Amino acid sequence: MKEKNVVGYSFLQFENLSSFPALEHFITTRHPLLDLSQEEGRKRLECILGERDIFTVKQVHGAQWVVVEEHSFPSSFEETQADALLTQRKGVYLGVKVADCLPVIFFDPEREALALLHAGWRGIIQGIHLRVAQAMKNLFSSSYSQLVVGIGPGIGKCCFSVGEEVAELFEQRERRGGNVDRKEGRFLINLKGFLFDELVDQGFDPHKVEVAPHCTFCEKELFYSHRREGEGAGRFMLLASLKEGW
Ligand SMILES: [Zn+2]
Repeated sequence: MKEKNVVGYSFLQFENLSSFPALEHFITTRHPLLDLSQEEGRKRLECILGERDIFTVKQVHGAQWVVVEEHSFPSSFEETQADALLTQRKGVYLGVKVADCLPVIFFDPEREALALLHAGWRGIIQGIHLRVAQAMKNLFSSSYSQLVVGIGPGIGKCCFSVGEEVAELFEQRERRGGNVDRKEGRFLINLKGFLFDELVDQGFDPHKVEVAPHCTFCEKELFYSHRREGEGAGRFMLLASLKEGW
C-alpha cells in the first residue's frame, strides 16, 4: 500500500490498482478526523470528492450484492440491504464503510468493471467474495484470472480472536490450512489470508491480489476499530470509481 495526500487528508491506495489510469480508488483514514459513520464526515468527504455521486448501501454482514446501473440514484441504495456493489458505470464512486471488516475491490481492466465488498467474518462464511466473483462473470463476462484485487485494511490475525463455533466454521471450510490458530484456549483467524486462499482456489491470479498489511485494531492512529472502540466506533471508507474518458 502507499499513501496519497488529498487536500490535507491522508489516504491509502493499493499499489497494484494504482497502475490503472481507468480506475480511481482510495481508503480514507482517521488522520485528520474523517468519520464516515457521521453525517458530518460524509459531507466532508463529498466536499473532497467534488460533485460526483457516492453510492453506498445499508451493510448488514450478509452476502447480497447490488448493481449500480447507468440511471441509478444514490438515494435509492442507502436503505438497500447489501454488502457489495458492482458497476460498469463511469464517473460515480462506490463506497463501503468498515471498522475491522475487510474492504475489498475487484477490478476488471479488460471489461472495465468494478466491485466493492464489505467482508466481515459472517459475509466471508456466507461466501460474499465467491458470489460477487460469480456475478462479475455473469454480468460483465469477467474472467477470474483477469481480476485485480485489493484486500484490507482490516483486523489482523494478531487481534481477531473468536469463539470455538466461529473457529470451527473456518476450519471446516479451509482447504490449505494455516488461517486458524488454536492457542491456549484462544482461536485466532486470519481473515485476509482466508479470503486470499479462497480466491486463488477459484482461479484468481495470486500475483494480482494485494493484501494490506495493516491491522485496524493495532493501528489506532490510522483506523477505526469496532473491536477496540465498541458500538460507537467510527468508520473509514474504501472508495473506487471508473474514470470517464478511458
Ligand atoms: Zn492487530
